[in-house]
Amino acid sequence: MDDPAKLANLDLVDSIVAITEQRNIETLETVLAETVFATLRPREVVMVDLHENEPSVVALFQDGEEPLPFDLKLDHCSPEAQAALAEYLAKPNAERGPEFLPEPPLLGECGIFPVMTRSRVEGVLCIRPEAFAQADWRLATGLVNIYRNFVEVLNEKDHDRLTGLRNRTLLEDQILRRLSMARRRREKRLAEGDERRKPSPHDHNWLAILDIDRFKSINDSYGHIYGDEVLLLISAIMHKSFRRVDQLYRYGGEEFIVLIQGVDAETAQRVLERFRESVARFDFPQVGTVTVSIGYVEIKDQDQPTTVIGHADQALYYAKNNGRNQTASYEALAAAGRIAPTKIGSIELF
Ligand code: GH3
Ligand code: MG
Ligand code: MG
Repeated sequence: MDDPAKLANLDLVDSIVAITEQRNIETLETVLAETVFATLRPREVVMVDLHENEPSVVALFQDGEEPLPFDLKLDHCSPEAQAALAEYLAKPNAERGPEFLPEPPLLGECGIFPVMTRSRVEGVLCIRPEAFAQADWRLATGLVNIYRNFVEVLNEKDHDRLTGLRNRTLLEDQILRRLSMARRRREKRLAEGDERRKPSPHDHNWLAILDIDRFKSINDSYGHIYGDEVLLLISAIMHKSFRRVDQLYRYGGEEFIVLIQGVDAETAQRVLERFRESVARFDFPQVGTVTVSIGYVEIKDQDQPTTVIGHADQALYYAKNNGRNQTASYEALAAAGRIAPTKIGSIELF
């Protein structure tokens, strides 16, 4: 007969395989919660994402048959889990690491496991056990650590080595998501016969291309090392200018892309202008003044991601040809007849 301890090890190996099979960081959080639920068999596991301003429940597993809603909220967790999470989330950001938790990490009736990557708390796993067992907590910590190491490996593949910004690997996928979100919202409005309802600012997503002006001459005059330093400083200004939810990409050599999330047209223009002005005001060591040109477009009803990028690029091209150091909106230029429509097949594109 098989040794039960060895069989348990096999389950554990299977869970590690499930975690390391993932290639998408966003689904990985759910897989971690599911794995902990299947391995420890607690009464409840909640995974809360802390990337955005508001904590959001990304996964919830509970014993019992009750089906859970698609749109998860903290209210759907048990009162015990809610209490433990509330106590944890009341801590200031700087005190949310595992070193600030008791040993074992129990808050009330639940175990709390901060999920860290690069010394930042990215999320928190809350486990409500059937009964408390020291080995379970060690197992949970081990799984969270495997997850963290794996996230770091995935991050390396998707991030630019020089600036640490995202590289273009997942960009298309992220634009596709925003296109399908916009399509779903349109369909929902149509189905509800609610076309007059004004879309909320949160419904709008934007793609902006930021391109350093005359970067070649910076390299030519000061050398590549100074060129690289400018790239680094610009990425630091990007971090300061945009919110955490706005995704930042190094798209190519001296070209960057920002996906701005959930703001109206004026706000998009304003945050881009604020970034452009911060760059223009910054005193770059040796080099002095550096400027950027920006073209942007709403991610709305384009047929595919390359069309979205193409539109922003057309606006950028306009900015470059009209004096540089400026921000150009594709929609505004198209409405003013300043961008010539391009025909692709029978579809007229601006
Ligand atoms: P424009 O205002 O029209 O954008 O002019 P530009 O000189 O910025 O544009 P161009 O596309 O002609 O040149 C881009 C230059 O960027 C060429 C290349 O030397 C430089 N470059 C690309 N990647 C890197 C990099 O990783 N490090 C450094 N130092 N330079 C880079
Ligand atoms: Mg360029
Ligand atoms: Mg350039």
